[in-house]
Amino acid sequence: MSSRFLIVGAGFSGAVLAHRLAELIPGCMINVWEEKPHIAGNCFTERDERTGVMVHKYGPHIFNTDNKEIWDFVNRFIQLRPFAHKVKATYNGVVYTLPVTLHTINQFFGKAFSPAEAKEFVRSKTSTFANPANFEEQALSMIGPELYKAFFYGYTKKQWGCEPTELPATNLKRLPLRFNYNDVYYAHEHIGIPEEGYTPLVHQLLNRNNIELSLNKKFTPGEDLTAYDHVFFTGPIDYFFNYKLGRLSYRTITFETIYSEGDYQGTAVMNYCDPEIPYTRITEHKHFTPWEKHESTICFKEFSKETAEHDIPFYPKRLAADKQLLKNYRAEALKQKNVSFLGRLGTYRYMDMHHVIGESLKFAETFAACFENKTTKPAFPNTEE
Ligand code: UDP
Repeated sequence: MSSRFLIVGAGFSGAVLAHRLAELIPGCMINVWEEKPHIAGNCFTERDERTGVMVHKYGPHIFNTDNKEIWDFVNRFIQLRPFAHKVKATYNGVVYTLPVTLHTINQFFGKAFSPAEAKEFVRSKTSTFANPANFEEQALSMIGPELYKAFFYGYTKKQWGCEPTELPATNLKRLPLRFNYNDVYYAHEHIGIPEEGYTPLVHQLLNRNNIELSLNKKFTPGEDLTAYDHVFFTGPIDYFFNYKLGRLSYRTITFETIYSEGDYQGTAVMNYCDPEIPYTRITEHKHFTPWEKHESTICFKEFSKETAEHDIPFYPKRLAADKQLLKNYRAEALKQKNVSFLGRLGTYRYMDMHHVIGESLKFAETFAACFENKTTKPAFPNTEE
């Protein structure tokens, strides 16, 4: 009898895993259940009917990685066009460049520093923490109090709904600090936007004879899974256990759509760093496809809030209490037979697309080897808690 697997979730983690398992385990049958009416999870893109613009329905996604294997993997299925992502930030009525570059520093402090002068100036403002324990300590040791207050404190409070002292330092480590005029947001070697959005990539990954996709199919905690040799769960790990130990905290995002003619803001992403402005950023989608021409424009204004029962979880907050709860859920997961947890929601981590893809590819290899050798299959792709 052929092996039968269930993958819950048709986002990147589930789709990459399905595709690679289908390649690695000949003859297996894979069911993919997706609760949404569409594939691609929060990377879902579709053309807006009114403007014809390709819209990132769950917020801006720019593919960026240093890993050539992952870049090549994605390019096997779709064409990624090079895209130099540049972000502007409004604070106190002035527009600056983000990440913090030499231009941001000179503009903010009204100076004309050279790189070496700016480095020394910023260093004189920073505090020393042997091991920055949270977002705020990381920021104060990296950029000092003025730049922190202007560009990070207000934005981060709006985005995460808590004091930056409660957040992991790693959230800030995502952003570089540059003492030059390079204003490309990501420091990665490969940066691109798929010509026709991300949805065709996921479609192609799942488009195989031995993969059966069911949309609008919600997984119910506790349901009978005995028909499957193994289950891969990419939804929220606390949902899998019906929240029996409590809820992990997430931020969710709501979008207000703005239609306009011409060019609304002149760039793809404008962040709003003042705490009094209720939204965090505005994305103007047509700037992600500079190779297309559109007269009209569509923008999303992003509002961040705590995730309530029926909201879509976006950002794992990973506060101290969450980390303890995650530990307990991971212990529960290890007691399961034949269930693995993957992806941003399954492992409760703030992950980028390339992390998710890389981890699913690797996990498929590990799983296939265990399956063939009849050894214990890992419950998680990562050991970190
Ligand atoms: N951040 C900030 N101000 C900004 C941009 C980012 O304080 O103008 C902080 C914020 O806490 C955010 C984190 O840096 O959550 C990571 O930013 P990134 O742009 O990577 O966020 P994403 O695009 O994943 O929402």
